[in-house]
Amino acid sequence: MNHTVKTLIDKLEQNGVLNRDEFVRLIDSRTGEAAEYLFGKACKIRHAVYDHEVYMRGLIEFTNYCKNDCYYCGIRRSNREAERYRLTPGQILDCCAAGYGLGFRTFVLQGGEDPYYTDERMVEIIRAIKTQWPDCALTLSIGEKSRESYKLFREAGADRYLLRHETANAAHYEKLHPADLTLKNRKRCLHDLKEIGFQVGCGFMVGSPFQSTECIADDLLFIKELAPHMVGIGPFIAHHQTPFADEKPGTMELTLFLLAIIRLMLPCVLLPATTALGTIHPTGREKGILAGANVVMPNLSPTSVRKKYMLYDNKICTGDEAAECRMCMHRRMESIGYHLTVSRGDHRGTI
Ligand code: SAM
Repeated sequence: MNHTVKTLIDKLEQNGVLNRDEFVRLIDSRTGEAAEYLFGKACKIRHAVYDHEVYMRGLIEFTNYCKNDCYYCGIRRSNREAERYRLTPGQILDCCAAGYGLGFRTFVLQGGEDPYYTDERMVEIIRAIKTQWPDCALTLSIGEKSRESYKLFREAGADRYLLRHETANAAHYEKLHPADLTLKNRKRCLHDLKEIGFQVGCGFMVGSPFQSTECIADDLLFIKELAPHMVGIGPFIAHHQTPFADEKPGTMELTLFLLAIIRLMLPCVLLPATTALGTIHPTGREKGILAGANVVMPNLSPTSVRKKYMLYDNKICTGDEAAECRMCMHRRMESIGYHLTVSRGDHRGTI
């Protein structure tokens, strides 16, 4: 193996971080052999903290209405072809009930930024879920809100919040979003969420249009600085009804390399092998686990709406019932020597 790459991986393992130039060099000079060396280290750390356990999160995609117009996203406001839907509180609770029966102890409510779901409505839903399933963790992923709104959600009982920062490079951020969305506000949200006491998750798309290696280095440095409990990364995949329709997808190979880097940076981090990774390769999620990830997020949304939550083309698991997804994931994890756990799957560190 190239001596410089090996030295950089060893240094990353020792210090938990590299400087910007070193990250760029490591990523740009990676080889298959270097990746194997890195995955070995990532797995060793992951096994020391989480053994062979894989945590599962039941994803409930409860609305695809969105007031935002992110250039990459299939449910962006300007996509007039998207067939919009909202789940009722009753339907959301039904998803949780089915999920609980299947062993899920974390529910993730994800949606577009839908003004119909006012703070009041969200608080009501959060309270209902936490009253009925007090032994479960509740994660929200509903975008940018005021500090006051986040406080209300936390007081109502929500435990975690996922808000990918998308890119930590301000110039790159502007190329992915219209002017009303700023990196400054995205970061403000993440800092507020953390201060309020949420377990927070940030993250980014791998191979998004205009992403350079320097952008990725900025992402990694931001992640180190924020020290989140969770990091969600997955390949960018084009959606045919967006301005990025013709852009090429991110690769599995780079996504796996970055998952392993993140495991070395934050040994206790909750790191999902995402649906997007499973979409670009039939065993992408298994490979993600073998590169250091320790979380999967099977879908609990009703099958009737699955195809409508299309963030990108060819998204997998849009036809399966929750029970099928659960069983399929069980088989996939067992096939690589890992086990799905019936537990809230909390972060096992102080950060
Ligand atoms: N509205 C909330 C938010 O902005 O955080 C949550 C929903 S949003 C659709 C969830 C994530 O999907 C985004 O953070 C983004 O990284 C990812 N995503 C959107 N379009 C994508 C695409 N074309 N390829 C891969 N991931 C995509």
